[in-house]
Amino acid sequence: MLTVDLGAGRRRLAVLAIGAHADDIELGCGGTLLRLAGDVEELELTWVVLSAAGARREEAEAGARAFGATKVEIHDFEDAFFKYGREVKDYFETLKAVEPDLVLTHTDNDRHQDHRLVAELTWNTFRDHLILEYEIMKIDGDLGNPNAYVPLEPGVVRKKVKLLQDCFGSQRDKRWFNEESFLALMRLRGVEAGAASGYAEAFHARKLVF
Ligand SMILES: [Zn+2]
Repeated sequence: MLTVDLGAGRRRLAVLAIGAHADDIELGCGGTLLRLAGDVEELELTWVVLSAAGARREEAEAGARAFGATKVEIHDFEDAFFKYGREVKDYFETLKAVEPDLVLTHTDNDRHQDHRLVAELTWNTFRDHLILEYEIMKIDGDLGNPNAYVPLEPGVVRKKVKLLQDCFGSQRDKRWFNEESFLALMRLRGVEAGAASGYAEAFHARKLVF
């Protein structure tokens, strides 16, 4: 299969990662970001979390730094009540200044309303960019059929799992927030990708230009 390498051979890569809540980016594309940090000499990683209050803010900051963010923006839009309007739309407009080579964001097939709004605003804002939409497992059972994969080496997989557990103590009592779940999804996507390592993260790519 002809493959496209997002990072190798690039001296500099500007990546914008956008998540509605603390831990979304890490869960959805943390392995990809760790891989890029190893592949690219100069990774400029702008990390945006739209809602993280109280202890979640500290966790969001810790996660961003641990996964290699070079610039972190954490906001306090109301969790579960994101709504389309001037405030959030104006904020997204400011992100154009990042001039990203790659944008990582939620997918609009996601059952969480905040995630869907972030996906919609990302596409509103970045009309001529490579956008990959990551997936978040949840009880809604809304994982779709992704069509883009980033294989991950075992060391990256282990690091992602460890950092998730280290950075997000408030989530440890959630039944799904554990090593088995994290590995299961990456293993499934690794099978689909035919990854030599057995592991991958998956994305929805709505538009690709070669
Ligand atoms: Zn979320």
